Amino acid sequence: LHQFLHGDESGSSSKNSSLPSILLAGPSGAGKTALLTLFEKRAGRKTSTSTETDEKKSTEPAATHTSQTPVSVQLNAASSEEDKVKKFLLIDTPGHPKLRSTALSHLLPLDPKTGRPLPPSKTSQIKGVLFLLDASTLSPSSPDSSLSQAATYLYDLLLALQHRYSRYTKGSKHPPSIPVLIAANKLDLFTALPASLVKKELEAELGRIRVSRSKGLLDSGVREDDLGAGEKEEGDDWLGEYGSERFEFRQMVEFDIEVEVVGGSVVGGEGPGCEGWWRWVVERV
Ligand code: GDP
Repeated sequence: LHQFLHGDESGSSSKNSSLPSILLAGPSGAGKTALLTLFEKRAGRKTSTSTETDEKKSTEPAATHTSQTPVSVQLNAASSEEDKVKKFLLIDTPGHPKLRSTALSHLLPLDPKTGRPLPPSKTSQIKGVLFLLDASTLSPSSPDSSLSQAATYLYDLLLALQHRYSRYTKGSKHPPSIPVLIAANKLDLFTALPASLVKKELEAELGRIRVSRSKGLLDSGVREDDLGAGEKEEGDDWLGEYGSERFEFRQMVEFDIEVEVVGGSVVGGEGPGCEGWWRWVVERV
């Protein structure tokens, strides 16, 4: 019922690529593999047939995680009204800094021949991005703080969505919006920041990144040039409201990007679980 589709990259000819998709992104160690396994189990429970295989599968890890190709898993989301099954793909992407362009190329796809960006509406069925991060190491005062890593990735991801919005206007028509769920994971751990603080710390860090990039001091993550977007204009790397002093997620609304921060936990019985994330996903596919 749910198949593994190893290496089903965007734009592939597989008929599954026409299914609504959720892109799963986030730094390494955030819990993406664990979440994939859990969602799989969840989806398995909703389906009545082939329980045996479902059970067998759910005890196995979801996918090889060091894999350099995105992994798509087809899940079933039962809608509450009718008991029908919605199918969607959860596209897992690598979190390693050198491989993050994989996730970004789903949002701003490239023409394999010319390397130029393709209009996203033609290739993408992406209904949302689930950006998972480890909230237990996010505090700037934590010894191995993951804040800067996570924020750098998030900056590039939100900027790709911002460019997607502003560059692919046809008349007054923009591409379909892609909302972002920032899933603050590992809230079962006592060092974890609650969602409200995760939001605050990320906004502050994204604001710092924005200033350093505008000064050309920082050069990390995937740049526009790598994406083959051609000439840059002033302010192109500026995330959110141009010239504003503080960065806030709500500035992304101007680019039709809705950003939410929701806490949860994938493992650990004490934690809040991932019901909130699942609901967000099911509402969007
Ligand atoms: P990935 O690199 O994003 O795929 O991260 P993994 O799924 O491999 O998870 C990294 C580590 O975090 C593993 O040891 C997981 O067991 C652990 N982990 C994932 N989610 C949670 C959680 O909600 N709470 C706790 N305490 N640990 C978690």
